[in-house]
Amino acid sequence: MQLDTLTLMAMGSFVAACSGTLLLVAWWANRKLLALAIWGIAGLAAAAGILCLMMATAYQEPLLMIGAGYWLALNHGLIWKGARALDEKPAPIALALAGVGLLFVVGLLPASIRGAGPLVISAAYLLAATISLWRGRAERLPARLPLTVLLGVHASVTLIGTVSMIGSRGVGIQVPELMSFFGIIHFESIIFAVGTAAFALSLVKERSEAASQLAAVIDPLTGIANRAGFLDAAAKIMHRCQREGAPVSVIMFDLDKFKSINDTFGHATGDAVIRKFCAVTAAALRPYDAFGRLGGEEFAVVMAATSIEAAAIRADRIRAAFEADARIVDDHQVLATVSAGVSESAKADAEIGSLLKLSDQALYAAKAAGRNRVKRADQLDAKRVRSDIIRVA
Ligand code: GH3
Ligand code: MG
Ligand code: MG
Repeated sequence: MQLDTLTLMAMGSFVAACSGTLLLVAWWANRKLLALAIWGIAGLAAAAGILCLMMATAYQEPLLMIGAGYWLALNHGLIWKGARALDEKPAPIALALAGVGLLFVVGLLPASIRGAGPLVISAAYLLAATISLWRGRAERLPARLPLTVLLGVHASVTLIGTVSMIGSRGVGIQVPELMSFFGIIHFESIIFAVGTAAFALSLVKERSEAASQLAAVIDPLTGIANRAGFLDAAAKIMHRCQREGAPVSVIMFDLDKFKSINDTFGHATGDAVIRKFCAVTAAALRPYDAFGRLGGEEFAVVMAATSIEAAAIRADRIRAAFEADARIVDDHQVLATVSAGVSESAKADAEIGSLLKLSDQALYAAKAAGRNRVKRADQLDAKRVRSDIIRVA
């Protein structure tokens, strides 16, 4: 079977147009995803560029060849802008269109290097797009790697083309020979069009799924774990401590007289007090402690490998820091305080539910004793369980 360059180009143009349309349709369904629209238009520009190239070759028409250069410069400028938009990075439209403008200048250059001009511009945009996507890899979405590779390969092939074009004056209008090194572009551009559309769509889908998974375990007001997220993290910590035979401690916090803070200063100030408590507590905890909002103005902390004495000291530090920090909130003298109850399972073999219950009883005792204090569950019963030895976590 013989492969014909013009047929391959017609196919390349058709595939680019289909991929571009697909991205535009996806954008139409969710207009917030501007990157898809930009890459969709880029696909249509690629289709127009390849079509011009094909017709320029078929009819030996220099004007069509020049037109192809402009379409492809637009295509690659938009690919760069779209790659930046995928990660919500700024990309001025003037910079995306600068390649088209530069082509006017290229037209004034000597014939020996003029042919490589459009390719240099395209390669620069593609390299910039590849680097931009690569830099966003901390997001850890599976589709990013193949997308970056596709862009990197397209940039490399375009660079190969640049090198092969420098110095070639050519006779008449030429496109890369199928069997030449640069001829790979005829196949690669088809894979690029289909692959980038598929992986760009996967990336936005993966991102929205990751966001909804996170939303299911994060409290929107404070950004800390909600009840479900906290219980999940707590179970993991308890499991680990149980395997290691280490103690685990649970602190429950409840803001004091919070209803009256809301009633006196308004709900917005109440919200600010809740956020302040979370900031103070998060700063006082170790990275491997679990901290969550159980609901309303109630919070809990699970501390791995921590005795009740050490947890009570930590809870009291948080209590004191909150008292100092929450004197004035939103310019109101709210004088907010917090009470806490602490419990422990020496070998982490208790259920998180029963530890929360014990901490809650201690918390109730702290409220009954006048609030703004910390009580230990093991000291509730007529101070029967009393240890003079402070164990260290
Ligand atoms: P105590 O010292 O006994 O805990 O008294 P309290 O007033 O804090 O307890 P109570 O349970 O009576 O009131 C809790 C209040 O917390 C009632 C509710 O309106 C308020 N609250 C719950 N969630 C939020 C929230 O997200 N934002 C604000 N601003 N208030 C909230
Ligand atoms: Mg409460
Ligand atoms: Mg309360």
